[in-house]
This record gives sequence, C-alpha cells and structure tokens, in this order.
Amino acid sequence: MLAISGVHTFYGAIEALKGVSLEVEAGEISTLIGSNGAGKSTLLMTICGSPRARWGRVLFEGKDITSMPTHEIVQLGIAQSPEGRRIFSRMTVYENLQMGAIRNTEDRFERNVSRVFELFPRLKERRNQRGGTLSGGEQQMLAVARALMSEPRMLLLDEPSLGLAPMIVKQIFEVIQQINQDDQVTVFLVEQNAFHALRLAHRGYVMVNGNITMSGTGKELLVNPEVRAAYLEGG
Ligand code: ATP
Repeated sequence: MLAISGVHTFYGAIEALKGVSLEVEAGEISTLIGSNGAGKSTLLMTICGSPRARWGRVLFEGKDITSMPTHEIVQLGIAQSPEGRRIFSRMTVYENLQMGAIRNTEDRFERNVSRVFELFPRLKERRNQRGGTLSGGEQQMLAVARALMSEPRMLLLDEPSLGLAPMIVKQIFEVIQQINQDDQVTVFLVEQNAFHALRLAHRGYVMVNGNITMSGTGKELLVNPEVRAAYLEGG
C-alpha cells in the first residue's frame, strides 16, 4: 500500500534519513522501532510531505506522493497522529473531533463520532471538556480519535505510548489493534516502546541513525537477540 524507496531527507546540512526503503502492506500493522533521534518522526513527516524527501520516492497505492502537498496526501486517505499529540487545548473534545472531520458529510460525521466514542468511552464522558484539561492518556486518545475522523485508509502513529502509564499504554495498543482489525485501517506505527509495538505488528523494521538495519515479522524481531539487547532488555 505504501512503498518507500531510497528516501533521503535533510534538515539543512543534516541528513536525517540516509536512503530508507520499506513497505507497508494493506490491512497490516507495520511497526518502526528505533532509539531517540534515529529518524522515525522524520520518516512519518516525509510521508506526509513536510519536510520533503530530497531523493527517493514515496508511493501510496502506486501513486507517487513524494512531491504532493500535504493536504492532497490527506485527501488520498492518509492521516497522522503526531508525536506530542498537538490537540487544540482550548477547544472541547467534540470540537477537536470536528477539526479532524475532513470531507465528512453530516451523517458520516455522526457515524464517525459514535465510532470513536465507542473506541474511547472516556472521550465520550469528556466530550464537553477542553482538550488542555485532559490527562496525558486522554489527550493521546483524542489525537488518535481526531485522526480517525477523516476516515483514513492508512493511519500513521508517532509514539502513541510516549509518557503514559502502563495501563493506558495497554489500552491504546488494544484500540490500535481494533482499528486495524474491525475498521480495516492499515497502520504504520512508530515507537520506542518496542515490546508492545512489535507484539501487535505483522511486520517490523528497526531504524538506526537514518538507516533501516533490520526487518522481519513482529514475532521474528521480538525474539531476535540484537533487537532484544538493544531495545527490549531492561526496557
Ligand atoms: P524521537 O523519538 O526523539 O522523536 P526520532 O527517531 O523520531 O526520535 P527524528 O525526530 O526524526 O528522530 O530526528 C532525526 C534526526 O534529525 C535527529 O538527529 C534530530 O536531531 C534531527 N532533527 C529532527 N528535527 C530537526 C529539525 N527540525 N531541524 C534540524 N534537525 C532536526
């Protein structure tokens, strides 16, 4: 569904991605793990067109989106839930969901809102509360819910577990699995929390210093000694 080949992305003279190639298959959850500063967020942002790849290509369903403006990429059915959540803190939960409802007709909006409230009952309880007053976990749920409002076929998630308590992390990953299985949304998940992220992944990739160094099924990477030593033990 998504094919990235030989992508190089720069911040000025800094080469953050040094020829990244990977594929995300339709219907699957693909996970990219790697430590701080490896280039994971840069890859997600490059898929969405900002910053752009200097060299290489990004294809979505066979279409070259490498140089496409971000809003057109969203129209194709890709939605991102960015790191740090970036919800609108002065708006209510419901208003945040309205902001995510790109291309929704009224009846589709109602259907999408009920679906995200089904996935995240906490958000339903807090629908009239301002985003800024939610807990970290609830803000993360809202960021994912807002991304789902555009009815994406592919959801890009940047470290959804960052800074959350283990109970909440478990809930978030369960919902990601539900979105994939029940709603047939293809998921590309970027995580430092390698254990949870690989457990639910059909396919996994490891990024080190702007390069993909390993790939395999989620299960293969979970038992791989190098992955265990670098990302799982003591973590
Ligand atoms: P993290 O988990 O901390 O988000 P990451 O794997 O997502 O890490 P990136 O944020 O993609 O890594 O960063 C990759 C490299 O690019 C790092 O060396 C980082 O310092 C650099 N970088 C990221 N954003 C910028 C920027 N706006 N300007 C300059 N350098 C940047």
